[in-house]
Amino acid sequence: MPISRYLSSSFVAIAMLTTATTLPVLANDHNTLNQGDLRTAEKLRDAALEANSAYGILESLTTEVGPRLAGSEGDRRAIAWASAKFKELGFDRVWTETITIPAWERISASAATTAPWPQPMQITSLGHSVGTDADGIEAEIIHFATLADLMDAPAGAAEGKIVYISNRMNRAQDGSGYGPAVAARGAGAVEAAKKGAVAVLIRSIGTDSHRVPHTGMMRYAEGVTKIPAAALSNPDADILSAQIERGQPVRFHINMQNAFHGMVESANVIGEVTGSERPDEVIVLGSHLDSWDLGTGAIDDGAGVAITMAAGEMIANMSERPARSIRVIAFGAEEIGLWGGRQYADAHVAEIDKHIIGAESDFGGDLIYGFAVNVREEALPVVAQIAGVLKPLGIDFSGNDAGGGPDIQGLKSKGMAVANLYQDGTRYFDLHHTADDTFDKIDEAQLRQNVAAYVAFGYLAAQYEGLFARQNTGQTE
Ligand code: ZN
Ligand code: ZN
Repeated sequence: MPISRYLSSSFVAIAMLTTATTLPVLANDHNTLNQGDLRTAEKLRDAALEANSAYGILESLTTEVGPRLAGSEGDRRAIAWASAKFKELGFDRVWTETITIPAWERISASAATTAPWPQPMQITSLGHSVGTDADGIEAEIIHFATLADLMDAPAGAAEGKIVYISNRMNRAQDGSGYGPAVAARGAGAVEAAKKGAVAVLIRSIGTDSHRVPHTGMMRYAEGVTKIPAAALSNPDADILSAQIERGQPVRFHINMQNAFHGMVESANVIGEVTGSERPDEVIVLGSHLDSWDLGTGAIDDGAGVAITMAAGEMIANMSERPARSIRVIAFGAEEIGLWGGRQYADAHVAEIDKHIIGAESDFGGDLIYGFAVNVREEALPVVAQIAGVLKPLGIDFSGNDAGGGPDIQGLKSKGMAVANLYQDGTRYFDLHHTADDTFDKIDEAQLRQNVAAYVAFGYLAAQYEGLFARQNTGQTE
């Protein structure tokens, strides 16, 4: 498309924004979607609500693969599964892009309070923690209510002891309780070791009251002793806290065995539906293929894989393809530090301008209630049109301030526009990173609504003739 046409229609869009408070719909205008596109998106949306294949895709992944910790044998089977599934669903191009990641293996974990009131405790190792020696560690507990309290403690405060951080995650629809609580998981080992501790225990970063601990990534720092790090299930944390409150020294035993297997290969698995007019320009629908090893990764993030695959499948089955390509990316090794997302962004930096906009599903499979974007002002009339198609699904537009998802952060930081389809996360952290993250927790009707939103968004973004990115130098028009 000639640049002059692009500039003139941008000018029209700017004029519209400055003179009108409601969206004017101009037929054939470059910066709006035409009525035919909107009707097509509505049909896709409604068809997804009637029947979609996401539930079956997720059943297949959780049954035929199950746990798929990055770098494990399950991960390798998941990559083969995803490649085969994309082909089976009718995607035009299916390929893998190799990534290099650190491999770690959970072997065993057991724990108990040993004095003055001995009780078995349910724990799990945090991801990529070192283990104990074969006999385990037995030491007195020193309790901190928060990570900040631990950091404020005097040097040597935890010498020879096991640090226990009891901070509790609060339930919220938007998952906002996670950020403040999860710092204890990431940094607890380093801060405890700095005070002389021999191990660190945290209350699980989760909102349930089941006796299943929540794993998740932790990290070490250069020059700080690596100590074992584990999470107690929430009921076990309650028991330990109640014992501590009685005022006598509480002793605790942990035996945890883990193994490191060095750097290994994994992959991002990609399925693409080729666009009819500008096939080199892609709409990214992302999720992550890897999971923690305790459950079968149904809500985290098998649901996202299924939602985006099913949305792409619907577009693959259309008689007339949208103008741009739909690129569904099942990123690898998200859980252990966003390895797939970062390596994809680095590998594709030269064609970042062909990545028109991206959205990622990584918050379970419950209803989407909000839609946000992070785009240039000129694209907002089209965003309003997309929001209009999403509105009957119970989805409200919430602003031009979307953060995107974890795996598309690398692409966003290099200039790609992003959208968020916010899911109801009220029960997400009951299951997140536990043995309870299994297929039976998926609500089929809610999963369909997710596919309806993704297919409508993806199709319309692919049909829009203009650009979404705030910085668009080099993008073809
Ligand atoms: Zn996830
Ligand atoms: Zn996760």
